[in-house]
Amino acid sequence: MAKIVPAQYQPPLPLDKLILQDGAEGAGDRMELDVLIVGAGPAGLACAIELAKLAKVDGTELNIGVLEKAEALGEHSLSGAVVNPRAFRELFPDLKDADFPFRAPVVKEAVYLLTAARKLRLPTPPSMRNHGNYVASLCEIVRWLGTKAEELGVNVFTGFPASQLLVRDSAVAGVRTAPAGLDHEGKPTPGGAAPNDLVAKVTALAEGTRGLLAQAWCEWQRVPSDNPQIFALGVKELWETKQPLDRVIHTLGWPLPRDAFGGSFVYPLEPNLVALGLVVGLDYRDAALDVHVLLQWFKQHPLLRALLAGGEMIEWGAKTIPEGGFFSLPERRSGAGVVLLGDAAGFVDVPSLKGIHYAVQSGMYAARAIFQNLKNGSALTEYDRLVNASYVARDLHRTRNMRLAFRDGFYLGGIQAGLMTLTGGRFPGGRYTMHRDAEAPRSLSADPPVVGGVSKVDAVFKSGNSTRDTIPSHLIAGENVPREVAQFYSHVCPAGVYEGTDSGLRINAPNCVDCKATDVLGPRWTPREGGSGPKYKRM
Ligand SMILES: Cc1cc2nc3c(=O)[nH]c(=O)nc-3n(C[C@H](O)[C@H](O)[C@H](O)COP(=O)(O)OP(=O)(O)OC[C@H]3O[C@@H](n4cnc5c(N)ncnc54)[C@H](O)[C@@H]3O)c2cc1C
Ligand code: SF4
Repeated sequence: MAKIVPAQYQPPLPLDKLILQDGAEGAGDRMELDVLIVGAGPAGLACAIELAKLAKVDGTELNIGVLEKAEALGEHSLSGAVVNPRAFRELFPDLKDADFPFRAPVVKEAVYLLTAARKLRLPTPPSMRNHGNYVASLCEIVRWLGTKAEELGVNVFTGFPASQLLVRDSAVAGVRTAPAGLDHEGKPTPGGAAPNDLVAKVTALAEGTRGLLAQAWCEWQRVPSDNPQIFALGVKELWETKQPLDRVIHTLGWPLPRDAFGGSFVYPLEPNLVALGLVVGLDYRDAALDVHVLLQWFKQHPLLRALLAGGEMIEWGAKTIPEGGFFSLPERRSGAGVVLLGDAAGFVDVPSLKGIHYAVQSGMYAARAIFQNLKNGSALTEYDRLVNASYVARDLHRTRNMRLAFRDGFYLGGIQAGLMTLTGGRFPGGRYTMHRDAEAPRSLSADPPVVGGVSKVDAVFKSGNSTRDTIPSHLIAGENVPREVAQFYSHVCPAGVYEGTDSGLRINAPNCVDCKATDVLGPRWTPREGGSGPKYKRM
C-alpha cells in the first residue's frame, strides 16, 4: 500500500487566528500587568517566583500574573519523574533538599535491554545515572511552586487558557483567553463568558511541550532553528503495587520495533506506589504503532508482571516531549515583549530524560532578564545570553546528536550514541539533520493485537477527564481525510479521540488529554474552555 506522509494531511498552523492586533474587538474584560506568564508549569512558576523575589529585594511593586488552562494547579502536569535538584537549590537557596516536594532520593538503579520474554542488565550509561536525583510527582511539585508564588504575591489564574497572542507591530503585547460556555456549534450560551485580554510589558510563554503560542510566535517572527523540533509521546500509569520496588528502572528494546526510538521508565514514588511509562519518538515508521497499546504489552513482560501482580492502576495520562535538543532550539528565545521558557523553547535533554530542572533554570534566567528590562530598559536578549552561557546550553550541546543518531535505527543509533558519550559529544562532529516528524513516511501494517490491560476509554476515565460533552471541538483536522490516515490518527492518539469510519474521520474531542501528539502528526490542537481536559493528581 502507499506510504502515508502525515504532513500531506495536516492543516497549517492557523496564524491568522493566533496573532491578533491588541485592541481587536470581541474581548470582555481587559487587565494590565507588568509581566504575564502563560503556563503554570515548573518554568512559568519559577519565573514568577524569581521575579517576585527580585522585586521584593529591590523594593519595587510588580504586578505578575500566571495563566494556567487547568482548573487547578498541577492538573495538566505530567512527567516521569526523576528530578535533578540543581535549579531548585538555586531558586530556594535557604531551603534544604528535604524541604522540596520530592518523594525519595534515588538509591538504586538498573537499565535493562528487553526481549519479549527476557531481560539483559546493561551497565548504566553516564547519561542515565541518577544518584543525587529524586523521584517526584510533577503535579506535587507544581502545586508546591504555586503556593510559593502566591505567598510572594503572584496572581495565579487557573482555568484560563491563553488562545491568541495580542501584538502591536512586531511586539507581543499580551494574550487573549479562550471563551467559556460555547455550545456545540461554537455559539455563546447564557452562562458563558467572553474571552479576556491580558496585556503586559513582557509576556513569558511557558506553555510546555508543543506550545501553541510559542509555535505561532516563531512562525510569525520567522525565528528559525537548525533542525525542526521533533517529539516523543509518553504514556504513563501510576500503580499501587503489592510488591515493593526499591530502584529506578529504565528499559530499552521490546516492545518497541527496531526502527522506533524510545524506552520505558519505572520509578518508585513510594515502595508500593510506582510510576511507569513508555516514551516513543514520533518519527516511527509503522502507522499502526500505538504507544498506549505498547504500554499494555510492556506490562506483560515478566519484569513488570511480577511487580504489578495483585496491584491496581490508579491514574493514567499522556504527554509529548520535545526531543530535538540543541539543534532544534529556536535561534533566539526572546523578542520584543516576549520570552520562551522550558519545553516551549525545547530545553530537554533526551538521553537523560530530563527537562524539569532546565525548565526551572530557564524560568529564573528569564526573570532576571525581564527584571532588568523593566528597571532600565535593557534588551530581553539578555535571557538568551544567560541560557547560552549556562549549563542548560552546555548539557544540550554535549548530547546534541545522540537522539538524532537513532534516525538510523536502534542498533546503529545505539553504537553511535555510545561513541558520542565516550567523546563528550565530539564524535562524529557536525550536525545530524532531521525532518519534521510529520514528514516521516509510514506504512499501515495490520492493527497491533491488544493484550488486555487498560482500554483507551478506561484510561481517559483514570486521567480524571471531565470535559463538558457539549463543548465545541478544539481540534482542527484536514478535509477529506482518507480512511487509512484516520486509522493512523486513531493509533497516534492515546485517548481514543479519533476513529476511522467508512465515511472518514470521527472526532470525540471531549476525550482529549492535551498530550499534543496529533498536533505533531495530524489534526491541530487549540485551547478550549478553561478547566477542560485531565485532572492529574500525582502524575
Ligand atoms: C512521560 C514524560 C516523562 C518525563 N520524565 C522526566 C523526568 O523523569 N525528569 C525530568 O526532569 N523531566 C522529565 N520529563 C520532561 C519534563 O516533564 C518537562 O521538561 C517539564 O515538565 C517542562 O516544564 P514546563 O514548565 O516547560 O512545561 P509543563 O510542565 O508542560 O507546563 C506547562 C504548563 O502550561 C500550561 N499551558 C499550556 N498551554 C497553555 C495555554 N495556552 N494557556 C494556559 N496554560 C497553558 C499547561 O497546562 C501546563 O500546566 C518528562 C516528560 C514526559 C512527558
Ligand atoms: S487529540 Fe488530544 S489526546 Fe489525542 S493525541 Fe491529540 S492532543 Fe493528545
